[in-house]
Amino acid sequence: MSATPDLDRILLDAHLPALVLSLVHMTGDASLLKAEWQPTYNAFPRGEPIFPPGAEDAIRAKAKEVLAAKLAGKLPPAPPLSPETTRKMINFIAGADVPPEYLPFLQDELAIDGESSKNPHWETPALKGAASKLKVLVVGAGMSGMLTSIRLNQAGVSHVVIEENADVGGTWLKNTYPGCRVDNSNHMYSYSFEQNHGWPFHFSPQPVLLEYFQGIAKKYDLKKNIRFQTTVLDMAFDEARDLWRVRVRDNKSGAEEVIEANAVVTAVGQLNRPRMPDIKGRESFKGPAFHSAEWRHDVDLTGKRVGVIGTGASAYQFVPEIAGKVKSLTVFQRTPPWAFPVPHYHETVPDGMKWLLEHAPMYDKWYRFFLFWMSTDGLLQAVRADEGWNGPSTAVGQVNQMFREMIAGALAESAGDPALAEKIIPTYPLGGKRGLLDNGVWLEALKRPNVELTTSKIAEINEAGIKTEDGTQHDFDVLIYGTGFHASKFLMPMKIKGRGGRDLHETWGGEPRAYLGMTTPGFPNLFMIYGPNTNIVVNGSIIFFSECSVRYIVNSLKLLAETGAGSMEVRQDVHDAFNVRVDAENAKMAWGAPQVTSWYKNETGRVTQNWPFALVDYWRATLAPDPKDFMLHKAGAKVAA
Ligand code: NAP
Repeated sequence: MSATPDLDRILLDAHLPALVLSLVHMTGDASLLKAEWQPTYNAFPRGEPIFPPGAEDAIRAKAKEVLAAKLAGKLPPAPPLSPETTRKMINFIAGADVPPEYLPFLQDELAIDGESSKNPHWETPALKGAASKLKVLVVGAGMSGMLTSIRLNQAGVSHVVIEENADVGGTWLKNTYPGCRVDNSNHMYSYSFEQNHGWPFHFSPQPVLLEYFQGIAKKYDLKKNIRFQTTVLDMAFDEARDLWRVRVRDNKSGAEEVIEANAVVTAVGQLNRPRMPDIKGRESFKGPAFHSAEWRHDVDLTGKRVGVIGTGASAYQFVPEIAGKVKSLTVFQRTPPWAFPVPHYHETVPDGMKWLLEHAPMYDKWYRFFLFWMSTDGLLQAVRADEGWNGPSTAVGQVNQMFREMIAGALAESAGDPALAEKIIPTYPLGGKRGLLDNGVWLEALKRPNVELTTSKIAEINEAGIKTEDGTQHDFDVLIYGTGFHASKFLMPMKIKGRGGRDLHETWGGEPRAYLGMTTPGFPNLFMIYGPNTNIVVNGSIIFFSECSVRYIVNSLKLLAETGAGSMEVRQDVHDAFNVRVDAENAKMAWGAPQVTSWYKNETGRVTQNWPFALVDYWRATLAPDPKDFMLHKAGAKVAA
């Protein structure tokens, strides 16, 4: 961009609703929130205008005038905005009257003045003193572990982060398969307090995400607290001393050591242990075979016959990347994914947009807010079952059915050929599994002459390739597993012993449960991030969830510091009542429908992964721990197991 910016050019790239709000900030003129500039949105936009005729030109003309005055230093300072104006601005950009219960939550997320409930405040000398005596052990230095470390530093709590890998980044370090990219808008999929105005793509590829997280580690000097290439083997709660004794192994030297900590925070993700399918003969294949999360970059796929098992989020991204270079590609599909049309999925962020994010006051915050609101809870209604629904099992309710028809129609149109359409349109309800983003490249790949989509069930894997139940033998040089992760085996393979020596996994008995996804009775001062029932399917971003969880955990530590208690343990009745509510609500969602099988459910059919409520509910529930939910034990007090 030149020294004198070309405002006409820049404004062509503007997100106009965010731009109007930036103008209100610059001028203090709330009358710019005019009815004729009010946007209206479609749930699945397909390029239709969001403004009445003439509004776009008028907004750009006004923006040009105000920005030019600002750049020339001729814009008088704007008065601060009243809460009433801020509320009107929220409604304006949301394109609707936001329900009042959402306002505190949205204002907190917006953090216009930089203040948010997520910022730790441990200012009093007593708290500062107590903080310096606490020691916390964090497991994992991915997105959530890094966030925990940032917040603990801000609170003044000393801690160590144990990380198995050689660097930070978690999933963005490990997944390097071709085409790997985030499928949440980047201007939202970033820490709320660390916006990046320079995202090169709306949905950036993995190396860009890794660079972001590595940059955060540097900026916040996180590595000083991280022990890399170190694995947590087990941990046990020492009741006499209210301490967790955590056994770790240095993977370079093999040396083991026990670290003591007042509290442990696990931030190990749900999707970090590749799951190889249990298919007969899997080990017998003679060629290279690998999982998407352990991509063999040393295996050149050029001119090879390749088989891919799975059509989930990972395969959906790498298949289009490799289809053009391999000799032949056979994709084995058990269940097709739902895919939502997102034409700009692979598009770069235009320069004008980047300029506005950097220079137009508050434009960045409102643009992020727009993305956040659009993904907040609107779609939740579309995946909730109607009570007593007796329509087809391909839907769970009327709204679900309506959305199904819309998306299925778009998929059929892109498929072109009815035979292909039949293969790729799911027969389970929309929202039963995580939806993917479709900009056409998946179907383009499937339509290539060297690519085949096979829906016949895999009978066995053998030396030469895969035999399907229709009797066909498919020979391959390379096999790639896009078969997902051991998501419901939370915290495995760590061994965790709580009060009275009880084992966490035995206590769970294959059905992991926690209160707010974070704490379990009998395991004092053990907090999980992205624990049971904190995954989201159609709303929000997992960074939002982690930020809420970390706020709650830091406030739990604060409760310990304020009360002088040695440990806090969630009450069994509180935990149980919460889980009854979760199970009842999950049963009403598309992903809880009996006809749906997915990794959201464990072997017993319980939905162990998903948060069935609204984002605002998690935000509210995690503001701070309610002391009534916990048993606070005096330091060193002996408690019956
Ligand atoms: P996944 O969604 O669990 O997909 C696994 C695929 O393998 C499914 O199509 C599954 O079929 C198939 N499969 C599993 N076992 C099989 C068997 N024995 N025979 C035939 N097919 C089998 O795994 P993923 O694609 O790695 O994605 C996992 C999660 O990671 C995603 O849901 C998402 O949360 C995250 N992710 C995110 C991104 C992103 O943000 N860009 C990218 C990749 C992954 P069924 O459906 O029939 O079980």
